Amino acid sequence: MTLAPYACDPAKTRGRRYLEQPAPTRSEYQRDRDRIVHSTAFRRLVYKTQVFLNHEGDLFRTRLTHSLEVAQLGRSIARPLGLSEDLVEAIALAHDLGHTPFGHAGQDALNECMANQGGFEHNLQSLRVVDHLEERYPAFDGLNLTFETREGILKHCSQHNARRLEEEEPDGLGRRFLDRQQPSLEAQLCNLADEIAYNAHDIDDGIRSGLISLEQLEEVPLFASHRRETLKQHPGLSQPSQMRRQLYEVIRRMLSAMVYDVIETTRASLSKAEPDSLSAVRQLPPLVGFSQEMQQRSVTLKRFLFANLYRHPQVLQKSEQAKHIVCELFEAYALDPSEMQAGFTARLDAVRDQADNSQAGARVVADYIAGMTDRFASREHERLTGRRLL
Ligand code: MG
Repeated sequence: MTLAPYACDPAKTRGRRYLEQPAPTRSEYQRDRDRIVHSTAFRRLVYKTQVFLNHEGDLFRTRLTHSLEVAQLGRSIARPLGLSEDLVEAIALAHDLGHTPFGHAGQDALNECMANQGGFEHNLQSLRVVDHLEERYPAFDGLNLTFETREGILKHCSQHNARRLEEEEPDGLGRRFLDRQQPSLEAQLCNLADEIAYNAHDIDDGIRSGLISLEQLEEVPLFASHRRETLKQHPGLSQPSQMRRQLYEVIRRMLSAMVYDVIETTRASLSKAEPDSLSAVRQLPPLVGFSQEMQQRSVTLKRFLFANLYRHPQVLQKSEQAKHIVCELFEAYALDPSEMQAGFTARLDAVRDQADNSQAGARVVADYIAGMTDRFASREHERLTGRRLL
């Protein structure tokens, strides 16, 4: 598989923070992917909420299956464009490692708890996981991933946080946000593959949960047009007994349409801009994207899911309980850090002598809670408060 001149080439990586010898048979990006798959944070994704809480049903997406779908879509798009599939896979598998338990509700709650202590943001947390929190190597904390994988994980970042990153690591990951430059095409692609994945699977999960219906989806052109085509070619799928098969066929067509649209549109942008290197890519506007029409359709679908699924009273009610759990866990550990696992209590003791110890201490508690799975968080909450919320 030859890489295009604008792709990330593992042989020309900007490297790792701690120098390591190359592996005999694997490229640097294959190695990154393998480290991610073997990490503890990756295994926890199986018990973390995407939209539906883990215990609500066995067939709903979790953060793990979502990440696998993003990796699959990303690779499918990367190959015909001549991009590095291994890098795309590594970024996709790591992109949600920093998510708290209970999905966005958990992140919002933790962000509120940390309001005066630097806040909490899942993207930055994913980077913290791979840079600091994984403890697997004798010589360093974190997974010591290449610059390009880390860059792809940090898909957005405020100017404030970018300045802080730049202080910690001069000319590092914060730089591109300060210079307002683009990341690699592989990173741009993972961003879009994430969107394609949840656009499609949240329809599937939404219907499965009974919170949205096929009829409601008639107001979403991307879905409705493929449904019309499907039923025209396969009228038998309108039978009630064939509903799941019908839904899968419509979603399959939607996914293909979005994937081929990205490939075609990105090819056209590449041949117009003619970047001859990764550094040329960085100076240009974003090159990986949907056509205008598909962009519009995707926005309409996202708005639909937001209004009808993510803000469904039943989802919101669970979200409220999840927020209580996270906030009360935060209070409980802040009050008595010895309730945390020994490693975190020790880390908290270690930062006590620092100048800014309240912020550093709060961060240790946030790291501990962010790493929890849904069910561990629920059980811990019950253990500490005697109440069972979820
Ligand atoms: Mg995601």
